[in-house]
Formats: sequence, structure tokens, C-alpha cells
Amino acid sequence: MAVKPNILRGDTVMVRRGREKGKRGTVKAIFADAGMATVEGLNVVKRHTKPGTQSNNMGGSTQTGGIVEKEGPVPISALQYVCEKCKLPTRLRRGRTKDGVAHRVCVKCGEPARESAKGA
Ligand SMILES: [Zn+2]
Repeated sequence: MAVKPNILRGDTVMVRRGREKGKRGTVKAIFADAGMATVEGLNVVKRHTKPGTQSNNMGGSTQTGGIVEKEGPVPISALQYVCEKCKLPTRLRRGRTKDGVAHRVCVKCGEPARESAKGA
């Protein structure tokens, strides 16, 4: 079952459960198929990599060895959108501008959420 995530790259989110509960960060990447996302500064894992070993982790960066700090994916379901205006964890509803463009709006203050690039 593919659920279209309501969170986009660049959004500020708060972690609702797990080890990093209550922390906030900016979404770096969304992996919609896996239902996962990486959030800046959250779930950072240190990885020791060997030269020549190309670990095919999410993000796909090429590593030449050493210690790499990288955000590990967290379930999108554990993340809550944080409104840039309220500064509160909130929810988004979907709406349309008068031009018919779909956008997301904070349910609390009505502030439109910033839209991310297509395909994020
Ligand atoms: Zn708001």
C-alpha cells in the first residue's frame, strides 16, 4: 500500500516516537516507496567505510573510506509536520489556490506550507 506522504523535502518536522522523540529537523530526503525519510541531524549514524567498498545506502553517495556521519532513515509515520508560522507540530490539509494549484495548508493558522520541488 503506497501512501502519499504529506511531508515533503525541506519541511520542518518533529519526531513523534522513538529514540529521537521530540527532536526537530528539516527533511532532507523522502523515500516514498519505503515510507521513510531522512531528517537533518536526526538518527545520525556513524559509518566506518573502507576504501573501495561502495555501500549502497540511501542517498547513494560515493565514499572513499573513513568515518561518515549520515542521517539514517526514519519512518514517515513517526514524523509530524511543524508549521513555520505556529512553530508547533500540526497537521496539513490539502487545498487549492484559485489558480487550481494543489497546496498544503496548516490546519491551525491556515498558513500555506512551502511547496517542495516536484518529485521530492
Ligand atoms: Zn500554522
